[in-house]
Amino acid sequence: KQGGKNRYQCFDAAQEELLRGHHQQIEEIRLGISLQQFVLYYQPKVNMYTGQVIGYEALVRWQHPQRGLLPPALFLPQLEQHPVGILLGQWVVTNAISQLVLWQQQGLTLPLSINIAANHLQSIGFVEQLSALLLPQPHIRGLVELEILESSALEDISLVSTIMQQCSELGVTFALDDFGTGYSSLSYLKKLPLHLLKVDQSFVRDITIDDDDLPILQGILALAQAFALEIIAEGVETEHHGVKLLQLGYQLAQGYAIAKPMPAAAVFDWVQQWQPPASWQRNR
Ligand code: C2E
Ligand code: MG
Ligand code: MG
Ligand code: MG
Repeated sequence: KQGGKNRYQCFDAAQEELLRGHHQQIEEIRLGISLQQFVLYYQPKVNMYTGQVIGYEALVRWQHPQRGLLPPALFLPQLEQHPVGILLGQWVVTNAISQLVLWQQQGLTLPLSINIAANHLQSIGFVEQLSALLLPQPHIRGLVELEILESSALEDISLVSTIMQQCSELGVTFALDDFGTGYSSLSYLKKLPLHLLKVDQSFVRDITIDDDDLPILQGILALAQAFALEIIAEGVETEHHGVKLLQLGYQLAQGYAIAKPMPAAAVFDWVQQWQPPASWQRNR
């Protein structure tokens, strides 16, 4: 009995420690936002078939004073369902749109995708905040795309759909990210005003090794066509991935074979010099 009690106390202390750790992490992130420690990297999206650059995706990183440049996997999970996550989301949206305006003024007119957490999209004032950023910038109308995770819990699908409709009126389009990994893919296709499907990289990774994922890739492509949606393959890591995808009928791609996410300052030069591999030209 006593042992049980001890264990209980022990568990309690560990729990408390964990909570304190979590709380500290959140506070460190909050501070990081106010100290401008977060940065956006940009990863190009291309049309493998035409060889054109078709846009970019903004991806957040944390330039941590001690730990270096941290990927989102090291801080976004802690922020799930926490208001500081929405704060960071607002920072991302504001900064990505400023960058888009800047590029547009410099003559680089390409669509920009921004990842949005489900709780941010559904937070009070989301549409108002977005319109406050977009309405003064008519030149970038139609260039903002929001990516929402297929796996994210969109609790109230009709509310989400309404929010998306309101955003559409601002010229914003929507992509369903990591498509095929969630459990609601098909009902989302039916219920949400989407423009693009992003096929998750897990379906692309092994296509040059075995044929297991080919029927899935073909099926998703047919689905996209049936719903009149655009479709892009994520995680195109090698030239050969691209060849396979072209042979399946995919045209749009994103991945290390094209470019890794890069700082904003590198984007302009990258666009000037990018050439698709010769093997992609041959598979047109
Ligand atoms: P995602 O939106 O699906 O973005 C693609 C992720 O795959 C990025 O990781 C990107 O760097 C990585 N990637 C791109 N090409 C390749 C490739 O060829 N091979 C491999 N192995 N990986 C590739 P990252 O930047 O670490 O972001 C991870 C996830 O974090 C994103 O997945 C997105 O869900 C989330 N995220 C990133 N930035 C933001 C943001 O600003 N806001 C929100 N809410 N989520 C974000
Ligand atoms: Mg994304
Ligand atoms: Mg994705
Ligand atoms: Mg992902």
